[in-house]
Amino acid sequence: MAVPKKLDDESVRLFAISKLPWIKKQKKKFLSQERQSKREFVSGESHYFRGTRYLLNVIESKEKQRIEIRNKKYIDLYIRPNSTIEKREKIINEWYRYYLKQTIPAYIDKWEKLIGVSVNEFRVKCMKTKWGSCNIESKRIWINLELAKKTPRCLEYIIVHEMVHLLERHHNERFHAYMDKFMPNWRSIKAELNNMVYEEKG
Ligand SMILES: [Zn+2]
Repeated sequence: MAVPKKLDDESVRLFAISKLPWIKKQKKKFLSQERQSKREFVSGESHYFRGTRYLLNVIESKEKQRIEIRNKKYIDLYIRPNSTIEKREKIINEWYRYYLKQTIPAYIDKWEKLIGVSVNEFRVKCMKTKWGSCNIESKRIWINLELAKKTPRCLEYIIVHEMVHLLERHHNERFHAYMDKFMPNWRSIKAELNNMVYEEKG
């Protein structure tokens, strides 16, 4: 985004207004991704885990309900016969949640040392418009369950972003300077996360 060179109040105002449609478009894009991810949880459907596409294979059985990855290609979903879509989705979401709960603490430990902040608690939840959020006062971060579907570097980027909020509340220059310092390639990861192409500035 190019900021106008001569910054009188009017051009700043017009610049900000000119970006409004872009902001709205990004939000809409996020919501449409959400809609596209509405699935029926039947065999043959594509599902993502850690940035990789897998084919769902539904196995109706009386065994313990669970998920198993097979041949780096299939997600085997063991489920009771005649389970509803909601029940299938619940089992998969619990598996995603388990993965995040297992994975996030090591990232927090690593970045607490590098950034010099401490996180009291993290929680995982479904969020419609945000990948993560941070409650600065309670030093608690929230991570979107959807991140289980994205590459580990996307998950790590969001954790770092939320932890940097413990140094700076707003998305201002100071915030971005911290991001550049701690994670110099954050812009390309952000673009990956939002399915956009990011071109490095020459
Ligand atoms: Zn933020």
